Amino acid sequence: MTALPRFFEQVNRYFDSAAELLDLPDGLLRQIRTCNAVYHLSYPLRRDDGSIEVIHAWRAHHSLHRLPVKGGFRLTEHASEDEVTALAALMTYKCALVDVPYGGAKGAIRIEKSNYSDGELERIIRRYTFELNQRKAIGPGLDVPGPDMGVSAREIAWMSDTYTALEHGEIAAPGAVTGKPVSQGGVRGRVEATGLGVYYGLRETVAQADDMKELSLEPGLDGKRVVVQGLGNVGAHAARYLRDDGAIIVGIIEREGAIYCASGLDPDEVEAHRRDGGSILELDADHRLEGKDGVNGLEWDCDILVPAALESVITADNAPRIQAKIIGEGANGPTTADADAILRERGVLQVPDMYLNAGGVTVSYFEWVKNLSHVRFGRMDRRFTQAAHGRILAAVEDLTGKSFNGDVVDRVAVGASEEDLVFSGLEETMISGFEQIRQMAKLHAVDYRRAAFAAAIGKVANSYRERGIFP
Ligand code: NAD
Repeated sequence: MTALPRFFEQVNRYFDSAAELLDLPDGLLRQIRTCNAVYHLSYPLRRDDGSIEVIHAWRAHHSLHRLPVKGGFRLTEHASEDEVTALAALMTYKCALVDVPYGGAKGAIRIEKSNYSDGELERIIRRYTFELNQRKAIGPGLDVPGPDMGVSAREIAWMSDTYTALEHGEIAAPGAVTGKPVSQGGVRGRVEATGLGVYYGLRETVAQADDMKELSLEPGLDGKRVVVQGLGNVGAHAARYLRDDGAIIVGIIEREGAIYCASGLDPDEVEAHRRDGGSILELDADHRLEGKDGVNGLEWDCDILVPAALESVITADNAPRIQAKIIGEGANGPTTADADAILRERGVLQVPDMYLNAGGVTVSYFEWVKNLSHVRFGRMDRRFTQAAHGRILAAVEDLTGKSFNGDVVDRVAVGASEEDLVFSGLEETMISGFEQIRQMAKLHAVDYRRAAFAAAIGKVANSYRERGIFP
Protein backbone atom coordinates (compact mmCIF):
# COMPACT_ATOMS: atom_id res chain seq x y z
CA MET A 1 0.00 0.00 0.00
CA THR A 2 1.33 3.44 -0.95
CA ALA A 3 0.98 6.13 1.73
CA LEU A 4 -1.83 8.54 0.89
CA PRO A 5 -1.18 12.28 0.62
CA ARG A 6 -3.07 14.39 3.12
CA PHE A 7 -6.70 15.01 2.16
CA PHE A 8 -6.44 18.83 2.04
CA GLU A 9 -3.37 18.48 -0.18
CA GLN A 10 -5.39 16.28 -2.54
CA VAL A 11 -8.16 18.86 -2.77
CA ASN A 12 -5.55 21.54 -3.50
CA ARG A 13 -4.01 19.39 -6.23
CA TYR A 14 -7.41 19.31 -7.94
CA PHE A 15 -7.71 23.06 -7.32
CA ASP A 16 -4.31 23.79 -8.90
CA SER A 17 -4.94 21.73 -12.00
CA ALA A 18 -8.28 23.53 -12.56
CA ALA A 19 -6.86 26.98 -11.75
CA GLU A 20 -4.47 26.58 -14.70
CA LEU A 21 -7.49 26.88 -16.97
CA LEU A 22 -8.39 30.31 -15.60
CA ASP A 23 -6.64 33.61 -16.11
CA LEU A 24 -6.60 34.71 -12.46
CA PRO A 25 -3.86 36.44 -10.41
CA ASP A 26 -1.77 34.14 -8.22
CA GLY A 27 -2.55 36.11 -5.06
CA LEU A 28 -6.27 35.72 -5.59
CA LEU A 29 -5.91 31.98 -6.19
CA ARG A 30 -3.81 31.62 -3.02
CA GLN A 31 -6.46 33.50 -1.04
CA ILE A 32 -9.24 31.26 -2.39
CA ARG A 33 -7.50 27.96 -1.58
CA THR A 34 -6.35 28.98 1.92
CA CYS A 35 -8.42 27.92 4.94
CA ASN A 36 -9.50 30.95 7.00
CA ALA A 37 -9.71 29.30 10.43
CA VAL A 38 -9.85 25.92 12.16
CA TYR A 39 -11.10 25.61 15.72
CA HIS A 40 -9.86 22.63 17.70
CA LEU A 41 -12.18 22.14 20.65
CA SER A 42 -11.34 19.86 23.59
CA TYR A 43 -13.92 19.43 26.29
CA PRO A 44 -14.86 16.99 29.01
CA LEU A 45 -17.57 14.36 28.80
CA ARG A 46 -18.93 12.79 31.97
CA ARG A 47 -19.52 9.18 30.97
CA ASP A 48 -22.40 7.13 32.37
CA ASP A 49 -20.01 5.29 34.72
CA GLY A 50 -18.91 8.62 36.24
CA SER A 51 -15.49 8.75 34.57
CA ILE A 52 -14.36 11.80 32.61
CA GLU A 53 -13.22 11.59 28.99
CA VAL A 54 -11.76 14.43 26.93
CA ILE A 55 -13.55 14.84 23.60
CA HIS A 56 -11.70 16.30 20.60
CA ALA A 57 -13.70 18.14 17.98
CA TRP A 58 -13.11 20.58 15.11
CA ARG A 59 -14.87 23.20 13.05
CA ALA A 60 -13.14 24.60 9.96
CA HIS A 61 -14.17 27.81 8.21
CA HIS A 62 -12.56 27.61 4.81
CA SER A 63 -13.88 30.69 3.06
CA LEU A 64 -15.78 33.70 4.33
CA HIS A 65 -16.29 35.22 0.90
CA ARG A 66 -19.96 34.72 1.66
CA LEU A 67 -21.67 34.47 5.03
CA PRO A 68 -22.87 32.40 6.70
CA VAL A 69 -20.43 29.57 6.16
CA LYS A 70 -22.07 26.19 5.86
CA GLY A 71 -21.16 22.53 6.11
CA GLY A 72 -22.09 19.37 7.91
CA PHE A 73 -20.41 17.85 10.94
CA ARG A 74 -19.57 14.20 11.36
CA LEU A 75 -19.06 11.73 14.15
CA THR A 76 -16.11 9.49 13.34
CA GLU A 77 -13.14 8.05 15.14
CA HIS A 78 -10.92 9.09 12.20
CA ALA A 79 -11.71 12.82 12.45
CA SER A 80 -8.72 15.15 12.14
CA GLU A 81 -7.88 18.75 11.41
CA ASP A 82 -6.69 17.80 7.93
CA GLU A 83 -9.98 16.05 7.17
CA VAL A 84 -12.26 18.90 8.28
CA THR A 85 -10.12 21.46 6.46
CA ALA A 86 -10.29 19.50 3.21
CA LEU A 87 -14.02 18.95 3.58
CA ALA A 88 -14.58 22.64 4.36
CA ALA A 89 -12.68 23.56 1.19
CA LEU A 90 -14.86 21.18 -0.82
CA MET A 91 -17.91 22.93 0.69
CA THR A 92 -16.68 26.32 -0.54
CA TYR A 93 -16.39 25.03 -4.10
CA LYS A 94 -19.59 23.00 -3.92
CA CYS A 95 -21.68 25.94 -2.74
CA ALA A 96 -20.18 28.19 -5.42
CA LEU A 97 -20.79 25.63 -8.15
CA VAL A 98 -24.49 25.17 -7.37
CA ASP A 99 -25.10 28.84 -6.50
CA VAL A 100 -25.86 28.31 -2.83
CA PRO A 101 -24.83 31.61 -1.22
CA TYR A 102 -22.49 30.35 1.52
CA GLY A 103 -18.81 30.09 2.33
CA GLY A 104 -17.51 26.60 3.13
CA ALA A 105 -17.23 25.00 6.58
CA LYS A 106 -17.06 21.52 8.10
CA GLY A 107 -17.04 20.02 11.55
CA ALA A 108 -16.21 16.73 13.20
CA ILE A 109 -16.22 15.11 16.61
CA ARG A 110 -13.66 12.33 17.05
CA ILE A 111 -15.69 9.47 18.50
CA GLU A 112 -16.84 6.00 17.46
CA LYS A 113 -20.55 6.60 17.89
CA SER A 114 -21.43 3.01 18.77
CA ASN A 115 -19.24 3.21 21.92
CA TYR A 116 -21.48 5.83 23.55
CA SER A 117 -24.95 5.70 25.07
CA ASP A 118 -27.69 8.01 23.80
CA GLY A 119 -27.32 10.16 26.90
CA GLU A 120 -23.56 10.49 26.38
CA LEU A 121 -24.03 11.39 22.72
CA GLU A 122 -26.54 14.05 23.67
CA ARG A 123 -24.07 15.58 26.14
CA ILE A 124 -21.30 15.49 23.50
CA ILE A 125 -23.43 17.29 20.89
CA ARG A 126 -24.88 19.87 23.29
CA ARG A 127 -21.41 20.76 24.59
CA TYR A 128 -20.05 20.96 21.02
CA THR A 129 -22.81 23.47 20.23
CA PHE A 130 -21.96 25.46 23.37
CA GLU A 131 -18.26 25.54 22.44
CA LEU A 132 -19.06 26.73 18.90
CA ASN A 133 -21.40 29.38 20.23
CA GLN A 134 -18.74 30.67 22.63
CA ARG A 135 -16.52 31.34 19.60
CA LYS A 136 -19.29 32.85 17.47
CA ALA A 137 -18.89 29.82 15.24
CA ILE A 138 -22.58 28.99 14.96
CA GLY A 139 -25.59 31.16 14.11
CA PRO A 140 -27.94 31.81 11.18
CA GLY A 141 -25.70 34.59 9.83
CA LEU A 142 -22.36 33.09 10.92
CA ASP A 143 -22.04 29.35 10.49
CA VAL A 144 -24.85 26.88 9.87
CA PRO A 145 -23.90 23.22 10.57
CA GLY A 146 -25.88 20.33 9.13
CA PRO A 147 -25.74 16.54 9.08
CA ASP A 148 -22.85 14.45 7.79
CA MET A 149 -21.60 10.95 8.57
CA GLY A 150 -23.08 9.52 11.75
CA VAL A 151 -25.36 12.54 12.27
CA SER A 152 -29.11 12.24 11.85
CA ALA A 153 -32.07 14.54 12.59
CA ARG A 154 -31.85 13.53 16.27
CA GLU A 155 -28.35 14.98 16.75
CA ILE A 156 -29.33 18.07 14.75
CA ALA A 157 -32.39 18.57 16.99
CA TRP A 158 -30.11 18.50 20.10
CA MET A 159 -27.87 21.08 18.47
CA SER A 160 -30.76 23.32 17.46
CA ASP A 161 -32.35 23.07 20.89
CA THR A 162 -29.07 24.00 22.61
CA TYR A 163 -28.46 26.97 20.32
CA THR A 164 -32.02 28.23 20.79
CA ALA A 165 -31.67 27.98 24.57
CA LEU A 166 -28.34 29.86 24.53
CA GLU A 167 -29.63 32.59 22.19
CA HIS A 168 -33.01 32.96 23.84
CA GLY A 169 -35.28 35.27 21.87
CA GLU A 170 -33.29 35.26 18.64
CA ILE A 171 -36.09 35.01 16.11
CA ALA A 172 -33.89 33.45 13.41
CA ALA A 173 -32.48 30.79 15.81
CA PRO A 174 -33.94 27.79 13.89
CA GLY A 175 -31.80 28.90 10.92
CA ALA A 176 -28.62 28.19 12.90
CA VAL A 177 -28.68 24.47 11.99
CA THR A 178 -30.16 22.51 9.10
CA GLY A 179 -31.33 18.93 8.82
CA LYS A 180 -33.78 19.42 11.69
CA PRO A 181 -36.86 17.24 12.08
CA VAL A 182 -39.81 18.88 10.27
CA SER A 183 -41.53 19.49 13.62
CA GLN A 184 -38.48 21.53 14.72
CA GLY A 185 -38.35 23.78 11.64
CA GLY A 186 -36.86 21.29 9.18
CA VAL A 187 -37.93 21.10 5.56
CA ARG A 188 -39.67 18.17 3.93
CA GLY A 189 -37.30 16.29 1.60
CA ARG A 190 -34.00 17.04 3.40
CA VAL A 191 -33.43 13.46 4.52
CA GLU A 192 -33.44 12.05 0.99
CA ALA A 193 -32.02 15.20 -0.68
CA THR A 194 -28.39 14.13 -1.14
CA GLY A 195 -29.28 10.69 -2.50
CA LEU A 196 -31.95 12.18 -4.76
CA GLY A 197 -29.39 14.71 -6.02
CA VAL A 198 -26.97 11.84 -6.76
CA TYR A 199 -29.73 10.22 -8.80
CA TYR A 200 -30.55 13.43 -10.71
CA GLY A 201 -26.85 14.01 -11.46
CA LEU A 202 -26.31 10.45 -12.72
CA ARG A 203 -29.52 10.62 -14.76
CA GLU A 204 -28.13 13.73 -16.50
CA THR A 205 -24.75 12.05 -16.98
CA VAL A 206 -26.08 8.95 -18.69
CA ALA A 207 -28.44 11.03 -20.84
CA GLN A 208 -25.47 12.42 -22.83
CA ALA A 209 -25.45 10.30 -25.97
CA ASP A 210 -21.90 11.35 -27.01
CA ASP A 211 -20.35 10.43 -23.65
CA MET A 212 -22.26 7.13 -23.51
CA LYS A 213 -21.12 6.25 -27.03
CA GLU A 214 -17.50 6.72 -25.96
CA LEU A 215 -18.10 4.37 -23.05
CA SER A 216 -19.94 1.86 -25.28
CA LEU A 217 -23.07 2.29 -23.17
CA GLU A 218 -26.65 3.06 -24.18
CA PRO A 219 -28.00 6.42 -22.97
CA GLY A 220 -30.38 6.25 -19.97
CA LEU A 221 -30.39 4.47 -16.63
CA ASP A 222 -32.51 1.54 -17.71
CA GLY A 223 -30.59 -1.70 -17.11
CA LYS A 224 -27.41 0.03 -15.91
CA ARG A 225 -25.64 -2.14 -13.33
CA VAL A 226 -24.73 -0.23 -10.19
CA VAL A 227 -22.48 -1.02 -7.21
CA VAL A 228 -23.01 1.20 -4.12
CA GLN A 229 -20.56 1.53 -1.23
CA GLY A 230 -22.27 2.64 1.99
CA LEU A 231 -25.99 2.14 2.52
CA GLY A 232 -26.36 5.15 4.81
CA ASN A 233 -28.22 8.38 4.21
CA VAL A 234 -26.65 9.14 0.83
CA GLY A 235 -26.13 5.61 -0.52
CA ALA A 236 -29.50 4.12 0.44
CA HIS A 237 -31.55 6.93 -1.07
CA ALA A 238 -29.39 7.11 -4.20
CA ALA A 239 -29.72 3.34 -4.67
CA ARG A 240 -33.49 3.51 -4.25
CA TYR A 241 -33.99 6.33 -6.79
CA LEU A 242 -31.62 4.70 -9.29
CA ARG A 243 -33.44 1.37 -8.92
CA ASP A 244 -36.82 3.10 -9.35
CA ASP A 245 -35.60 4.53 -12.67
CA GLY A 246 -34.59 1.14 -14.07
CA ALA A 247 -31.01 0.67 -12.83
CA ILE A 248 -30.07 -2.67 -11.27
CA ILE A 249 -28.26 -2.52 -7.93
CA VAL A 250 -25.91 -5.47 -8.41
CA GLY A 251 -23.55 -4.82 -5.51
CA ILE A 252 -23.59 -3.31 -2.02
CA ILE A 253 -20.51 -2.74 0.11
CA GLU A 254 -20.89 -2.07 3.83
CA ARG A 255 -18.75 -2.17 6.98
CA GLU A 256 -19.19 -5.91 7.46
CA GLY A 257 -18.43 -6.90 3.84
CA ALA A 258 -19.94 -6.82 0.38
CA ILE A 259 -22.50 -8.77 -1.65
CA TYR A 260 -23.01 -9.09 -5.41
CA CYS A 261 -26.15 -10.35 -7.12
CA ALA A 262 -26.35 -10.11 -10.92
CA SER A 263 -30.17 -10.20 -10.93
CA GLY A 264 -30.30 -7.19 -8.59
CA LEU A 265 -30.53 -6.43 -4.87
CA ASP A 266 -33.43 -4.56 -3.27
CA PRO A 267 -31.87 -1.62 -1.34
CA ASP A 268 -35.01 -1.29 0.82
CA GLU A 269 -34.74 -4.90 1.89
CA VAL A 270 -31.00 -4.71 2.54
CA GLU A 271 -31.36 -1.50 4.53
CA ALA A 272 -34.25 -2.90 6.61
CA HIS A 273 -32.26 -6.07 7.31
CA ARG A 274 -29.29 -4.03 8.57
CA ARG A 275 -31.54 -1.69 10.58
CA ASP A 276 -32.88 -4.76 12.41
CA GLY A 277 -29.31 -5.69 13.38
CA GLY A 278 -28.63 -8.09 10.48
CA SER A 279 -25.55 -8.26 8.28
CA ILE A 280 -25.64 -8.01 4.50
CA LEU A 281 -23.58 -11.21 4.44
CA GLU A 282 -26.68 -13.14 5.60
CA LEU A 283 -28.62 -12.18 2.45
CA ASP A 284 -28.92 -14.21 -0.79
CA ALA A 285 -26.12 -13.27 -3.21
CA ASP A 286 -23.96 -14.68 -6.03
CA HIS A 287 -20.70 -13.49 -4.39
CA ARG A 288 -19.68 -12.35 -0.92
CA LEU A 289 -16.63 -10.60 0.47
CA GLU A 290 -16.23 -10.67 4.23
CA GLY A 291 -15.04 -7.94 6.57
CA LYS A 292 -12.30 -5.66 5.32
CA ASP A 293 -12.16 -7.59 2.02
CA GLY A 294 -15.50 -5.91 1.24
CA VAL A 295 -13.60 -2.95 -0.15
CA ASN A 296 -12.62 -5.16 -3.10
CA GLY A 297 -16.26 -4.93 -4.15
CA LEU A 298 -15.30 -1.56 -5.62
CA GLU A 299 -13.63 -3.58 -8.37
CA TRP A 300 -16.73 -5.62 -9.27
CA ASP A 301 -18.01 -5.60 -12.85
CA CYS A 302 -20.65 -2.86 -13.22
CA ASP A 303 -21.54 0.20 -15.29
CA ILE A 304 -21.77 2.73 -12.45
CA LEU A 305 -19.89 2.68 -9.15
CA VAL A 306 -21.30 4.94 -6.41
CA PRO A 307 -18.89 5.31 -3.46
CA ALA A 308 -21.13 6.79 -0.76
CA ALA A 309 -19.32 6.04 2.50
CA LEU A 310 -15.77 7.22 3.09
CA GLU A 311 -13.02 9.33 1.57
CA SER A 312 -9.90 7.98 -0.18
CA VAL A 313 -11.30 4.53 -0.98
CA ILE A 314 -10.34 4.67 -4.66
CA THR A 315 -6.56 4.91 -4.68
CA ALA A 316 -3.63 4.40 -7.03
CA ASP A 317 -3.63 0.78 -5.74
CA ASN A 318 -7.13 -0.24 -6.82
CA ALA A 319 -7.83 2.32 -9.60
CA PRO A 320 -6.26 0.11 -12.32
CA ARG A 321 -8.67 -2.70 -11.38
CA ILE A 322 -11.91 -0.67 -11.20
CA GLN A 323 -14.25 -2.09 -13.85
CA ALA A 324 -17.01 0.55 -13.68
CA LYS A 325 -17.24 2.87 -16.68
CA ILE A 326 -18.79 5.67 -14.62
CA ILE A 327 -17.96 6.64 -11.02
CA GLY A 328 -20.60 8.79 -9.31
CA GLU A 329 -19.05 10.23 -6.15
CA GLY A 330 -21.78 10.26 -3.49
CA ALA A 331 -19.22 10.52 -0.68
CA ASN A 332 -16.89 13.47 -0.24
CA GLY A 333 -13.36 12.83 -1.52
CA PRO A 334 -13.65 9.10 -2.30
CA THR A 335 -11.01 9.30 -5.05
CA THR A 336 -7.40 10.30 -4.42
CA ALA A 337 -5.68 12.62 -6.90
CA ASP A 338 -3.37 9.78 -8.05
CA ALA A 339 -6.34 7.48 -8.63
CA ASP A 340 -8.12 10.26 -10.50
CA ALA A 341 -5.22 10.48 -12.95
CA ILE A 342 -5.22 6.72 -13.52
CA LEU A 343 -8.99 6.62 -14.04
CA ARG A 344 -8.89 9.51 -16.51
CA GLU A 345 -6.15 7.76 -18.42
CA ARG A 346 -8.32 4.64 -18.54
CA GLY A 347 -11.31 6.63 -19.85
CA VAL A 348 -13.50 6.19 -16.77
CA LEU A 349 -16.10 8.97 -16.56
CA GLN A 350 -15.93 10.50 -13.06
CA VAL A 351 -18.81 12.60 -11.78
CA PRO A 352 -17.19 14.58 -8.96
CA ASP A 353 -18.42 14.79 -5.38
CA MET A 354 -18.43 18.58 -5.45
CA TYR A 355 -21.30 18.44 -7.91
CA LEU A 356 -22.92 15.05 -7.35
CA ASN A 357 -23.58 15.24 -3.62
CA ALA A 358 -24.53 18.95 -3.63
CA GLY A 359 -28.20 18.04 -3.14
CA GLY A 360 -27.72 18.02 0.63
CA VAL A 361 -26.49 21.57 0.93
CA THR A 362 -28.99 22.74 -1.68
CA VAL A 363 -31.95 21.53 0.34
CA SER A 364 -30.29 22.74 3.55
CA TYR A 365 -30.27 26.16 1.91
CA PHE A 366 -34.02 25.82 1.26
CA GLU A 367 -34.49 24.92 4.93
CA TRP A 368 -32.51 28.00 6.03
CA VAL A 369 -34.59 30.22 3.71
CA LYS A 370 -37.75 28.69 5.20
CA ASN A 371 -36.48 29.37 8.72
CA LEU A 372 -35.63 32.99 7.95
CA SER A 373 -38.99 33.59 6.26
CA HIS A 374 -40.95 31.72 8.96
CA VAL A 375 -43.40 30.23 6.49
CA ARG A 376 -43.71 26.77 4.98
CA PHE A 377 -43.06 26.59 1.22
CA GLY A 378 -46.40 26.33 -0.61
CA ARG A 379 -48.47 27.65 2.26
CA MET A 380 -49.40 30.90 0.52
CA ASP A 381 -50.02 29.67 -3.00
CA ARG A 382 -50.86 25.95 -3.04
CA ARG A 383 -54.65 26.32 -2.89
CA PHE A 384 -54.59 29.40 -5.09
CA THR A 385 -52.71 27.54 -7.85
CA GLN A 386 -54.98 24.54 -7.50
CA ALA A 387 -58.07 26.73 -7.90
CA ALA A 388 -56.54 28.67 -10.82
CA HIS A 389 -55.76 25.43 -12.69
CA GLY A 390 -59.31 24.28 -11.98
CA ARG A 391 -60.66 27.51 -13.50
CA ILE A 392 -58.54 26.99 -16.64
CA LEU A 393 -59.93 23.46 -17.05
CA ALA A 394 -63.48 24.77 -16.56
CA ALA A 395 -62.89 27.50 -19.19
CA VAL A 396 -61.62 24.88 -21.69
CA GLU A 397 -64.70 22.77 -20.95
CA ASP A 398 -66.94 25.79 -21.60
CA LEU A 399 -65.18 26.56 -24.88
CA THR A 400 -65.14 22.99 -26.21
CA GLY A 401 -68.40 21.76 -24.71
CA LYS A 402 -66.53 18.63 -23.56
CA SER A 403 -65.81 17.52 -19.98
CA PHE A 404 -62.48 16.35 -18.60
CA ASN A 405 -62.59 13.11 -16.68
CA GLY A 406 -61.75 13.11 -12.98
CA ASP A 407 -58.26 11.72 -13.62
CA VAL A 408 -57.30 14.74 -15.75
CA VAL A 409 -58.71 17.14 -13.15
CA ASP A 410 -56.76 15.36 -10.39
CA ARG A 411 -53.50 15.63 -12.35
CA VAL A 412 -53.86 19.21 -13.58
CA ALA A 413 -55.81 21.06 -10.89
CA VAL A 414 -53.07 20.82 -8.28
CA GLY A 415 -50.89 23.20 -6.29
CA ALA A 416 -47.35 22.38 -5.18
CA SER A 417 -46.70 21.06 -1.65
CA GLU A 418 -43.51 21.88 0.24
CA GLU A 419 -41.98 18.58 -0.85
CA ASP A 420 -42.91 19.21 -4.52
CA LEU A 421 -41.21 22.61 -4.39
CA VAL A 422 -38.11 21.32 -2.61
CA PHE A 423 -37.64 18.47 -5.10
CA SER A 424 -38.30 20.81 -8.01
CA GLY A 425 -35.68 23.27 -6.73
CA LEU A 426 -33.25 20.40 -6.20
CA GLU A 427 -33.81 19.02 -9.70
CA GLU A 428 -33.32 22.46 -11.23
CA THR A 429 -30.08 22.90 -9.26
CA MET A 430 -28.69 19.53 -10.32
CA ILE A 431 -29.61 20.05 -13.97
CA SER A 432 -28.17 23.56 -14.17
CA GLY A 433 -25.05 22.46 -12.24
CA PHE A 434 -24.54 19.67 -14.73
CA GLU A 435 -24.93 22.03 -17.69
CA GLN A 436 -22.28 24.38 -16.25
CA ILE A 437 -19.82 21.53 -15.77
CA ARG A 438 -20.46 20.12 -19.22
CA GLN A 439 -20.04 23.51 -20.90
CA MET A 440 -16.80 24.15 -19.01
CA ALA A 441 -15.56 20.63 -19.85
CA LYS A 442 -16.25 21.18 -23.55
CA LEU A 443 -14.75 24.69 -23.53
CA HIS A 444 -11.42 23.55 -22.06
CA ALA A 445 -11.48 19.92 -23.25
CA VAL A 446 -11.11 18.65 -19.67
CA ASP A 447 -12.84 16.09 -17.47
CA TYR A 448 -15.86 16.90 -15.28
CA ARG A 449 -13.81 17.22 -12.07
CA ARG A 450 -11.50 19.92 -13.42
CA ALA A 451 -14.49 21.59 -15.08
CA ALA A 452 -16.42 21.66 -11.77
CA PHE A 453 -13.43 23.09 -9.87
CA ALA A 454 -12.82 25.70 -12.59
CA ALA A 455 -16.48 26.81 -12.59
CA ALA A 456 -16.46 27.08 -8.78
CA ILE A 457 -13.12 28.90 -8.54
CA GLY A 458 -14.29 31.40 -11.16
CA LYS A 459 -17.38 32.21 -9.11
CA VAL A 460 -15.50 32.64 -5.81
CA ALA A 461 -12.98 34.84 -7.63
CA ASN A 462 -15.82 36.99 -8.99
CA SER A 463 -17.24 37.40 -5.55
CA TYR A 464 -13.89 38.82 -4.30
CA ARG A 465 -13.47 40.99 -7.38
CA GLU A 466 -16.99 42.41 -7.26
CA ARG A 467 -16.26 43.70 -3.78
CA GLY A 468 -13.10 45.37 -5.07
CA ILE A 469 -10.84 43.18 -2.94
CA PHE A 470 -8.77 41.95 -5.90
CA PRO A 471 -8.26 43.55 -9.32
P1 NAD B 1 -24.06 7.79 7.00
O1 NAD B 1 -23.38 7.70 8.29
O2 NAD B 1 -25.53 7.97 6.95
O3 NAD B 1 -23.73 6.52 6.09
C1 NAD B 1 -22.44 6.04 5.86
C2 NAD B 1 -22.58 4.57 5.53
O4 NAD B 1 -21.30 4.06 5.19
C3 NAD B 1 -23.09 3.75 6.72
O5 NAD B 1 -24.11 2.87 6.29
C4 NAD B 1 -21.85 3.01 7.18
O6 NAD B 1 -22.15 1.76 7.80
C5 NAD B 1 -21.10 2.84 5.88
N1 NAD B 1 -19.69 2.58 6.08
C6 NAD B 1 -18.87 3.02 7.08
N2 NAD B 1 -17.64 2.51 6.93
C7 NAD B 1 -17.67 1.75 5.82
C8 NAD B 1 -16.72 0.96 5.16
N3 NAD B 1 -15.46 0.84 5.60
N4 NAD B 1 -17.10 0.30 4.02
C9 NAD B 1 -18.36 0.40 3.55
N5 NAD B 1 -19.32 1.13 4.15
C10 NAD B 1 -18.98 1.79 5.26
O7 NAD B 1 -23.30 8.96 6.20
P2 NAD B 1 -23.84 9.80 4.99
O8 NAD B 1 -24.47 11.02 5.52
O9 NAD B 1 -24.59 8.90 4.06
O10 NAD B 1 -22.46 10.26 4.34
C11 NAD B 1 -21.73 9.40 3.47
C12 NAD B 1 -20.77 10.26 2.64
O11 NAD B 1 -21.54 11.24 1.92
C13 NAD B 1 -19.75 11.06 3.44
O12 NAD B 1 -18.57 11.18 2.67
C14 NAD B 1 -20.39 12.43 3.58
O13 NAD B 1 -19.44 13.46 3.78
C15 NAD B 1 -21.04 12.54 2.22
N6 NAD B 1 -22.14 13.51 2.18
C16 NAD B 1 -23.22 13.40 2.99
C17 NAD B 1 -24.26 14.33 2.89
C18 NAD B 1 -25.52 14.23 3.70
O14 NAD B 1 -26.46 15.01 3.45
N7 NAD B 1 -25.63 13.31 4.62
C19 NAD B 1 -24.16 15.38 1.98
C20 NAD B 1 -23.05 15.47 1.15
C21 NAD B 1 -22.04 14.51 1.25
